[in-house]
Amino acid sequence: MKKAIVVGSGIAGLASSIRLAHKGYKVSVYEKNDTYGGKLGYFKKDGFRFDTGPSLFTMPQYFEDLFFDVGYNFSDFVTYEKLPSSCKYFFDDYTKFVFYQDKEKLKKELNSVFKSDEKNVLDYLVKSEELYENSGALFIENSLHKLKTFFSFKALKSLPYLINVENSKSLHAKNKKYLNSEKLIQIFDRYATYNGSSPYKTPGMMSMIPHLEQNIGTFFPKGGMRSLVDALYQLALKLKVDFNFNSEVNSFNVENSSISSIVVNDVPVKADLFISNMDVALTYKKLLKDNKTFKSETAKERTSSGVVFYWGINKVFEDLDLHNIFFSSDYHHEFNQIFEQDEFPEDPTIYVNITCKHELIDAPEGKENWFVMVNVPSSFNYSNEEIELLKNRVLIKLSKLLKVELSPLILTEEILHPKKIKNNTNAYLGALYGTASNSVISAFNRHSNFSTRYKNLYFVGGTVHPGGGIPLCLNSAKIVVDSL
Ligand SMILES: Cc1cc2nc3c(=O)[nH]c(=O)nc-3n(C[C@H](O)[C@H](O)[C@H](O)COP(=O)(O)OP(=O)(O)OC[C@H]3O[C@@H](n4cnc5c(N)ncnc54)[C@H](O)[C@@H]3O)c2cc1C
Repeated sequence: MKKAIVVGSGIAGLASSIRLAHKGYKVSVYEKNDTYGGKLGYFKKDGFRFDTGPSLFTMPQYFEDLFFDVGYNFSDFVTYEKLPSSCKYFFDDYTKFVFYQDKEKLKKELNSVFKSDEKNVLDYLVKSEELYENSGALFIENSLHKLKTFFSFKALKSLPYLINVENSKSLHAKNKKYLNSEKLIQIFDRYATYNGSSPYKTPGMMSMIPHLEQNIGTFFPKGGMRSLVDALYQLALKLKVDFNFNSEVNSFNVENSSISSIVVNDVPVKADLFISNMDVALTYKKLLKDNKTFKSETAKERTSSGVVFYWGINKVFEDLDLHNIFFSSDYHHEFNQIFEQDEFPEDPTIYVNITCKHELIDAPEGKENWFVMVNVPSSFNYSNEEIELLKNRVLIKLSKLLKVELSPLILTEEILHPKKIKNNTNAYLGALYGTASNSVISAFNRHSNFSTRYKNLYFVGGTVHPGGGIPLCLNSAKIVVDSL
């Protein structure tokens, strides 16, 4: 029986271990932390439960496929429901907009808030689907580093979309072309942040993302986002994957252009095949001691990072939903600060996620568990003073828009910031999604899932093709294991 080692048990590491075990490998996972899941963590404090990382669940099909491919049903591990609306938006002038998933409800909402754009939005969603079906799926589900991806009927079909000028200009430019209202443009610009990029730089190709959220849907897994990695872990155990926690891999040993073993706690462990779920740049630096490739990888622009305030709130806000966005009044300036000036935004767009709206046990009665996130530049160091200043900006803005003094309502608090994200999961500069998609060639520039130098080394996770975010990470595992 061939032996495989997976370094890291993030979502892509777990998915890889499952697919490898099903393929007949004896799989061992080595994880530096005391638990699996990577960025999909959780904690409980003072009666509140918080998911610490991802909060938006889209494309459950990729979980369904993974379980089905190895002979199990996802629904036997996790149940999930489709949400009636994807997000509630709040603007500085107190305009509110609920993005319903049901098209009739959406029409009514558009008609009452953005009348002149009712048809434009519905047409946009049709175009978004067409773009995804004819080009997006191909590049998300296949390697960009295998010629057969480009010599196929699907690739031929995608060509008109790839060379279409509006898909290579910025997402913002494309949104401006199809929508009238500045506020709706801002709503559709926000999809750039789904992979940590800027709408003023990321290409119009990203206009396929609204299809995933609005046409296919936004979902909520029972038990919260952590239940997704719990399910993967349980499935891996059923397939006899062996897990080693508190086991940081320190290096790879190389013999004849192949990896021969990993070194954990000074002990070499041999295998036939190795998959790194660690940030690819740091895999080169720390495990392969290859500073040259580390430098070329880190020369690529990173995505944004985030500061998250986890607050136990002593009140129930009837006006808030599961996903809420409080927009900044100058979106261009905000992204300029994040991607050009490398500084915290003065007027940040604030995302508030409240899982107890669906999972009552996540907060005590009469209270709510708020996950409050602001996009910030990826960076090593922010001082406590800077984070405190950002917190004050968030409190002032939310207090104004919710017409309540928020600070006295905070019963409990924890804070996540780029340095913690870096330390928790070995993410270079604490970037949420690896390398940014701020140019037309970003997808082709992202590191491949295969090593050109070592025959038996593979890469999965948010820092390699097809990119960050749960659905793409699951695909990276499929691309690798299908290729073996
Ligand atoms: C605050 C936040 C919000 C987010 N929101 C969303 C969202 O709403 N939707 C979405 O789809 N995505 C979201 N993301 C992004 C998403 O979490 C990531 O893209 C995804 O989880 C990355 O998974 P991964 O497989 O690359 O591994 P990671 O989660 O990065 O895990 C890598 C694992 O490898 C381990 N490791 C690293 N080095 C070593 C070593 N040397 N030895 C042993 N173990 C090692 C780490 O400890 C970690 O467990 C968010 C991320 C954050 C932080």
